[in-house]
Amino acid sequence: MVYVITQNCCKDGSCVPVCPVDCIRPVGAAGEFTDTEMLYIDPEACVDCGACLEACPVDAIYHEDFLPARLERFTEMNARYFQHHPLQTGDEPVAERPTLAAGTMRVAIVGAGPAACYAATELLGVEGVEVDLFERLPSPFGLVRAGVAPDHQDTKLVVDVFHDAFENPRFGCHLNVEIGRDVTHEDLLAHHHAVIYAVGASKSYDLGIPGEDLPGNEAAADFVGWYQGHPDHGGDQFDLSAERAVIVGNGNVALDVARILLLPRDRLAKTDIADHALQALADSNIKEVVILARRGPRNAAFSVGEFQALGFLPGIDVIVDNDDLDPHAGDDIETVMKLEVAREYAQRQPSPGNKRIVFRFMTTPAEVVGNGKVQGLRVVHHGFDKTGRLVPGAGHTELIETTLILRSIGYQGSPVDGVPFDVDQCIIPNDHGRVLDHDGHPLPGVYVTGWIKRGPRGVIGTNRTCAEETVTRLWEDFDDGKLTRDVQDRAALEELLTQRNADPVGWSGWCAIDTAERKRGVEASRPRVKFVDTAEMIAAAKA
Ligand code: SF4
Repeated sequence: MVYVITQNCCKDGSCVPVCPVDCIRPVGAAGEFTDTEMLYIDPEACVDCGACLEACPVDAIYHEDFLPARLERFTEMNARYFQHHPLQTGDEPVAERPTLAAGTMRVAIVGAGPAACYAATELLGVEGVEVDLFERLPSPFGLVRAGVAPDHQDTKLVVDVFHDAFENPRFGCHLNVEIGRDVTHEDLLAHHHAVIYAVGASKSYDLGIPGEDLPGNEAAADFVGWYQGHPDHGGDQFDLSAERAVIVGNGNVALDVARILLLPRDRLAKTDIADHALQALADSNIKEVVILARRGPRNAAFSVGEFQALGFLPGIDVIVDNDDLDPHAGDDIETVMKLEVAREYAQRQPSPGNKRIVFRFMTTPAEVVGNGKVQGLRVVHHGFDKTGRLVPGAGHTELIETTLILRSIGYQGSPVDGVPFDVDQCIIPNDHGRVLDHDGHPLPGVYVTGWIKRGPRGVIGTNRTCAEETVTRLWEDFDDGKLTRDVQDRAALEELLTQRNADPVGWSGWCAIDTAERKRGVEASRPRVKFVDTAEMIAAAKA
């Protein structure tokens, strides 16, 4: 009997060091296949001790005897990973750094999402280091709060691994403080030996086609912000009056949005979805969500775990409109498994009266059509030449009628005042986390981690290795004597915030907001009822 890692896996790796037989992979070792969307347990090596079950922050690990039916496939998936990538022994443990004298290393982190929190956790592991974290919203945890889908409550539990850092006396939590409004990049450098930017990437790409400006063609990121109760999107409105919505793009965000559009009200009402979205979705007419993908199923951007989970949604059929579903030589194991799931969907008979998620592969948007608002999306199917080679846009065109188009084709970062920005890649230019100036030289004491460092790729746990890499560069610079400037202390920083009329919310303030939201949730039999308005959150923090 063995333990099995399942759909919720955030790839955070908290389970890896507790395993006595080191049988959880991948761990990021040299030469390892690390592009997986989740971790796997080798059933041949697992000794059934259960240590990983306790360590997993998102309840993704099950004993195989207790797997729910919707997760049974993961027993085979875990085993098949190791058939393709046999277990190798791990790296040598990294030596601990010595304790530093107080004030020797002060680090500012901008942003409070997983990348920022992992960086803080890593830094605070060295005794003596002080960390100040700045976030413009009164709430921490970035996309865990505002991105992880409301019906994936277990995944949100990952924030528990950050509590030790937030409660550490060497940690300063400055929520509701905005860089550029309350303090500047120069202010941060005056009070810290190093600054790490972890500001994410929240802006959506446009489609770049005619009709793009018509109301009803919206960014999926805005729709996510709306149903998650993000303060920036509390007043947004979406037309849910037609029977069909179209999502352009096929990553896990597209799958999240499709589920939220179609799940019955009683399922959504058990989540922390924003109240205004719960009501609007209860009144929605949408019965079909079309997911458009430019490439074929082999190159689908969604993860196999999320894809197979769609097949267990109540009252929802999954339609796969493609017949190129056989694996090719050289396909990686997760692609092979995705194609298997797609073949199963393609063979299923839809049930009359069910709602539908329809995957349309090899299809590109060509024009948003409408008179004053979106009425349809003209698409072009890809074709093949006489030799069977793919010719993008060479197939027939088709008008898909809809009043709601949601673009889910990736995120881009935005510039930060006083910090270099790569306008082509929409990231802060860097070398493994060291920010580079316009001549490509490292900017002393300035670092970057998360999506604004590497682009919008990876799962929550990817930010852990990303942050570790950045912090490693920071320590290399410290050891080289490059971070020895005299800087002002936390008392001086707090004095500066007061002078600037900032209204910081600290960790205790966030805990008060969290408690108030959970209390509202108990009254409604929900995990929490979120505050959407920033002023309400600040009032709750002060109460
Ligand atoms: Fe490792 Fe024990 Fe988890 Fe098996 S049950 S993967 S041996 S920690």
